Amino acid sequence: MTKQYIYGIDIGGSKIELAVFDASLKQLESSRIVTPQSSYQDFLNALVVMILSADKKYQCQGAVGIGMPGIINANQEVLSANVPHATGHNTAQDLAKLINRPVAIENDCRCFALSEAQSYIGIQHTRVFGAIIGTGAGGGLCIDGKLYRSAQGIAGEYGHYALSAVLQQKYQLPILKCGCGLMGCVESYIAGPGLAKIYRHFSGEVLTTFEIVEGLRKGDVLCQQSFACYVDLIGSTFAAIIMAYDPEVIVVGGGMSLVSELMDKLEQAITPYIFTGIRVPKIVLAEFGDASGTRGAAILAKAQVGALS
Ligand SMILES: [Zn+2]
Repeated sequence: MTKQYIYGIDIGGSKIELAVFDASLKQLESSRIVTPQSSYQDFLNALVVMILSADKKYQCQGAVGIGMPGIINANQEVLSANVPHATGHNTAQDLAKLINRPVAIENDCRCFALSEAQSYIGIQHTRVFGAIIGTGAGGGLCIDGKLYRSAQGIAGEYGHYALSAVLQQKYQLPILKCGCGLMGCVESYIAGPGLAKIYRHFSGEVLTTFEIVEGLRKGDVLCQQSFACYVDLIGSTFAAIIMAYDPEVIVVGGGMSLVSELMDKLEQAITPYIFTGIRVPKIVLAEFGDASGTRGAAILAKAQVGALS
């Protein structure tokens, strides 16, 4: 019997990564290319080349799963600002025709959640919410290790919750326009670049998020003030996630999850925004982190192949 390999493909606006996994989800290798920007056909062709070259190397027809930014609706049509050529297309179906096998597809934050639901901590809990706080803010819910799929594919998009009016008033924050077209989405404040926007609001000066975290560690008062506001906003947002999904654990990934000052304060920051008597779920750092994109896509593919066989 030939060995089964699984390809987890993480598509971003600037790069595409394909990781090869064995049937036990051990990663064997990964490769990256620049995301073609010229046309949808070039984008599909680049994926075909990556997949067929892995097939050749591993002497198999690997199972294929894709994670990509944007909304993948119930008909598997893509709506993606980061990969605009794919918008309106059924990328999974189009690719499946070209490589002659089924292709599983999901939003990248949902892939992260799926991967972390099948981690050491994740498998010990029934309901796991995976939340990315990086260049954007998004997540997904898993129940019993499986992704919760919502009617229109948008469940987990917590970055587009409205900024709390209480906190907007408390800090006199400006109402910012979000990339999604709405006004005052919390992502504009709590994603990594949001910390720099908050600092600018308090100080009138421009620093990068990295510089603000450095300033915080050196005891700079404005950096501390900005960071306290930032943590308060994330606390309020995570309380809204808890109200919506009531998970046993929230697994946090993305660049900002590596700032230990945030992770240390998060539980305390959520408490004021949930009902008295309701406990804050466990908040833990992602086990697989950046590797969760390809790993989650591979888990999707594995589940699809399992369902077919
Ligand atoms: Zn938005």
